[in-house]
Amino acid sequence: MATLGIPQNTISILQKYQFVFQKKYGQNFLVDTHVLEKIMDAAEITKEDCVVEIGPGIGTMTQYLAERAGAVVAVEIDKKLIPILEETLAAYDNVTVLNEDIIKVDLNRIVEEKNGGRPVKVVANLPYYITTPIIMSLFENRVPLKSVTVMVQKEVAERMQAGPGTKNYGALSLAVQYYAKPEVVANVPPNCFIPRPNVGSAVIRLTRYEEYPIAVKDENLLFALIRASFNQRRKTLANSLSNAGNLSLSREQVAAALEKMQLSSTVRGEALTLAQFAELADLLCS
Ligand code: SAM
Repeated sequence: MATLGIPQNTISILQKYQFVFQKKYGQNFLVDTHVLEKIMDAAEITKEDCVVEIGPGIGTMTQYLAERAGAVVAVEIDKKLIPILEETLAAYDNVTVLNEDIIKVDLNRIVEEKNGGRPVKVVANLPYYITTPIIMSLFENRVPLKSVTVMVQKEVAERMQAGPGTKNYGALSLAVQYYAKPEVVANVPPNCFIPRPNVGSAVIRLTRYEEYPIAVKDENLLFALIRASFNQRRKTLANSLSNAGNLSLSREQVAAALEKMQLSSTVRGEALTLAQFAELADLLCS
């Protein structure tokens, strides 16, 4: 079948099935062969790889993945797309399409079944309405991963890469950078999609660390501290952490820890590096 990366081919398949776009599912289909090639190159897909694709749509990127990877598992929520995928992927025997919600599906089980539990690569043009929950659940559920190469909203890519003291720095930056090395590999304008999204997009590759560069005694506490610090971004760290009901920390405990770290008692969370959050978590857990 001719590549769906060419707009005319995408339009004819959509017309053939009289497909109606579902806004609630964040459906913007890629129609640019250069961008598709760029994503494949960035993800460095080889026949050794088992790839999980989130939201295959009509199968545009899935075709590229199927050509290059050993196996592809594509998880699509919209049941109206399943008969279309059966047609567009008919030539490939290394693709499994699952009609499931990526948030509810047990990816660890899928990786066990399809790749013997060995790390997979995630590649996707993500639905933008749930980018953060998808990325966080991949990491927090400890899905065995080599890398995650995804199209996201440009601002979200910037947040993932941001460092302390910048306006985009927040809980997402710290969580992503704890688990992986982020690199933006391409900026993608709205005219590369049907229909056009009203935001700019970027492809970001997150390469999972084999050994995390930051060691911390209690990972759950680290993430609880990070979340509480950025929930009330304008407040001082001492205020936001002692106000967070789930942490049960007193102002004095936080102040003592900050003093040990030689940080000002009025410092805000946005000024702390990941290493400093980890140090704070270690001081507060004992
Ligand atoms: N990969 C296709 C492409 O590049 O042309 C489509 C990308 S489109 C931005 C996002 C896709 O994710 C849509 O096909 C949408 O139906 C699907 N999707 C949305 N929410 C989902 C969910 N919770 N689980 C699985 N797929 C989902």
